[in-house]
Amino acid sequence: MSEAPRIQRLPDVLISQIAAGEVVERPASVIKELLENSLDAGGRQIEVDVEQGGVRLMRVRDDGCGIRKDDLALALSRHATSKIQNLSDLEQVRSLGFRGEALPSISSVARLSLASRSAQDANGWIVTGGESGALRPTPHPIGTTVEVRDLFYNIPARRKFLRSEQTEFDHLQETVKRLALSRADTGFTLRHHERTVFTLRADEGPERRVAALCGENFMAQALSMEFEAGPLRVSGWIGLPTFSRSQADMQYFYLNGRLVRDKLVSHALRQAYQDVLYHGRHPAYVLYFTLPPEEVDVNVHPAKHEVRFRSGRMAHDFLYRAVQQALAGTRAGQTVSAARPPAATQSPHTQHTQQAAMPLHASASEVREQIGAYTILHGTPALEPALEMEQEGAHAPAQDAPPLGYALAQLQGIYILAENKSGLVLVDMHAAHERVLYERMKDALQGAGVRAQPLLVPVSVSVSEHEAQAAEQHGELLNKLGFEISRAGPETLLIRQIPALLGDVDAAALLRDALADIVTHGTSARLDERMNEILGGMACHAAVRARRKLSHSEMNALLRDMERTERSNQCNHGRPTWVQLDMTMLDKLFMRGK
Ligand code: ADP
Ligand code: MG
Repeated sequence: MSEAPRIQRLPDVLISQIAAGEVVERPASVIKELLENSLDAGGRQIEVDVEQGGVRLMRVRDDGCGIRKDDLALALSRHATSKIQNLSDLEQVRSLGFRGEALPSISSVARLSLASRSAQDANGWIVTGGESGALRPTPHPIGTTVEVRDLFYNIPARRKFLRSEQTEFDHLQETVKRLALSRADTGFTLRHHERTVFTLRADEGPERRVAALCGENFMAQALSMEFEAGPLRVSGWIGLPTFSRSQADMQYFYLNGRLVRDKLVSHALRQAYQDVLYHGRHPAYVLYFTLPPEEVDVNVHPAKHEVRFRSGRMAHDFLYRAVQQALAGTRAGQTVSAARPPAATQSPHTQHTQQAAMPLHASASEVREQIGAYTILHGTPALEPALEMEQEGAHAPAQDAPPLGYALAQLQGIYILAENKSGLVLVDMHAAHERVLYERMKDALQGAGVRAQPLLVPVSVSVSEHEAQAAEQHGELLNKLGFEISRAGPETLLIRQIPALLGDVDAAALLRDALADIVTHGTSARLDERMNEILGGMACHAAVRARRKLSHSEMNALLRDMERTERSNQCNHGRPTWVQLDMTMLDKLFMRGK
């Protein structure tokens, strides 16, 4: 029989390195822990400096409460925390951290220095070299600076798993973004190699914050919502079905200020969108859910991405109901209003047309706001669809109705039926939407060019060599159209940016078609003449497809957009986008008044 091995206690550093395996995967996970500490400390201004994607340096500086001199070394020792003291604290955690493991873990796999000053100390102190390291005085304002250098310098095996500088930085930036979305009252600055990547001010308000991080395009196509029942409350922005995405990459859900990815939550939201989204499409949302801390257990995952609800069913049903009803646009005691795209970011052109058109053509968001206000005024709980139609119908008072009136219903998923002053308006949904997009792109092209929107993950497209060459040759034109493309191989292109106006489209198909047009129209001189065709093709890609179920607010939004952009009642392909059936025509049809 072989000799039984001896058991021995692991050295402290090794214990921390094992713990680090769970929470420190890459630079982004370090940043998450450091930012959470800064937020827990009440920081209102947080500065993040990064070098080499975070691998060489991550420095987080905050103006929070700081750490007392006597506690500095303790902050670096395992299982030491200022956030909980006993089991009952653990059962109702209000802070982001509570395990007392982050700093010692990070310190065991990188070179960490911690500088801080609390209001109780006359000057700042800095500790380097771990919990038993040297403590020296240092000038520091009230607050804390944590510097992490050379991540995994002592663990080559982990270093090997790190990706390129750009990839690591992308992850890190996404992490900062997620935390910045959770706290609009806190300013954030992110710098990479001393270049400012973004600055988010503490006083800009939640709407600006979300727009800055999720894009104006999301904001323009999102409903702001708020819903409360007893101690449960959810608020935020939910993307309209027209802003759905091919990936679940724009879903930010904060539970008591903590970003979580939870099966129960995503199920509830998926279900709420079920009626209005195509199969395989994913909704976009930024939602803040609050409930009493004792209703959730956050102590189930070391990095705390997952949570456990004490009464999951209730949370699920609450979220489902809130979002579903916000999408339906009706519910008593709840405010639904379209998020207004911040004025400062609109092109002078759109602003102008909007103002000029104001008296007759109320903006889409105004209409949605009216609808919200109306249903609150006449608040009846959980309206039946038929009732909802009636209410919306009551919206068309003969005199001040906009030219295309208000939506009554959708027919076969193809036509919108609306009522205006003269009678019935029939709209071909796809053609109309295509027209709106087309006109907007034409306007943009006549101005500074179509604004581009970066793709979260670049899309690679295989094309013919000839097309790849054309893409390179007409790079400038493609830029003007809102694309950013690079060549990744003889027959491969990489799309990094697409036209922001078009929202969420199949980027590959969009580019392929545009390229095919460019190739057929050959020389640059002819291209200018054919530009409208190219734009038309692109608009067609992004327009709502037939059979997509639209809510009343979406239909009304489209009507308002049509009023603002239409120059003639024709879509790009020469098809009419809407027809008017006025009362006299209808009366004739039924031989009324004869
Ligand atoms: P936890 O956050 O789980 O308590 P950490 O290891 O992240 O554990 O931090 C240990 C302790 O150090 C915290 O409880 C807190 O008291 C202190 N600390 C860390 N970072 C900061 C900071 N930026 N400002 C003030 N105190 C901090
Ligand atoms: Mg912490």
